[in-house]
Parts: sequence; C-alpha cells; structure tokens
Amino acid sequence: MSRVILGEFAHIVRRALEEDHGLVRPTGVQATAGGPRVVFEAGEIPLSPKPGFEHKPRPALVAEAAARYLATRWAEGPLPRPVPLDSFVALDDAFPHVFEGGTETPAGWHFLMWAGAEWLVETGLPKGFETAQAKEKFGSLRWYWHCDTERDGRTAGVIRAVEAVSAGICEVCGGPGTLRKGGWARTLCDEHAVRRG
Ligand SMILES: [Zn+2]
Repeated sequence: MSRVILGEFAHIVRRALEEDHGLVRPTGVQATAGGPRVVFEAGEIPLSPKPGFEHKPRPALVAEAAARYLATRWAEGPLPRPVPLDSFVALDDAFPHVFEGGTETPAGWHFLMWAGAEWLVETGLPKGFETAQAKEKFGSLRWYWHCDTERDGRTAGVIRAVEAVSAGICEVCGGPGTLRKGGWARTLCDEHAVRRG
C-alpha cells in the first residue's frame, strides 16, 4: 500500500507545484492514528514580496496538504475510502465553523476539504473565520474566505496549499487526477476522463 500512496503523493505534488515539484522529497510512509502519513523533506522558494498575497503555493505546505489528504483517503486501507455523495452535508456537519455557509465542491474533493478543515482547526482558526465560497473553477479548487483580523498569513498559506493540491485529485472519485481541457475544464482520473467522453 505504501508504494501506491507514494505514487499518488508524487502525482499530486507534481500537479500542484509544477516546476517546483523537485523541491519535495518523500522519505517514507508512517502509520498514524489518522491514517498512513507520507513523511517528506521540502525545500523553499523565495517569498512573495507582497505579504499575505502569495501566488505560488509553498512547497512544504503543499507536501503537507498532500500527505494529510492521503492519510485521510487511505485511513481505512487497504482500499481508499469512497467519497460520500452528500459531501456538502457531511463537511458542514463535521466542521460547522469552517464551512458554515456551505461548500459547492465536487464529491471527489471531499477528503481534501476534510483534511484541509482538520488542518485549519488544528492550527487555530483566526477570529471570525468564514468560508464565503468553496467551488471548482477551471478544474481547480477556489476557496474564498475572510476573517475579522488582518489577513492571516498562516491560514492563507494552508488554504492556498489545499487549493493547489486539488489540481492532482479527480473531482469525481478522489483518485490521482489530471486537468482535462476542452469544453468544461475538469480534473479527472483516467477512468472518469474516459467516461466523460
Ligand atoms: Zn476518478
């Protein structure tokens, strides 16, 4: 199973970081209470001169988002957990302070949203945090949010990384996905790309 998880990790990191993906080096998979977690080393890229508005996701945060996603997806191995069709309801019920107002994300990103929400709660939600909208746009996740305080860099980095990771996850089933253009751009695994045709 570790080999499959490491393969999915490499796929996701490559899609999420594009030319910077070589900065992330997985070193193994560790069993944890929250599922099998990829362990990695990650280099850094120069910080954006405009604090709080980084357009490039941080490699270390992207790697962590991918590792958290895969731990959640494979928590009940040896097969990945199927995504629930009532993803919206399940996310809102489990994380009312994160998703109050709801999400419009496709079911395939359920465990990504789940892992992202868990991560945000763990690091501490900034005062007045609210998801304004979370949806798929041009095949990737867009997660719009606000909070009472001045834009919180830590929260912004986490959410940016979760958005980036969506570029490698099939929005139907949660498997390794690739952006498919033509008509409505969507991120799909090979199987769902065929069915779409
Ligand atoms: Zn799929």
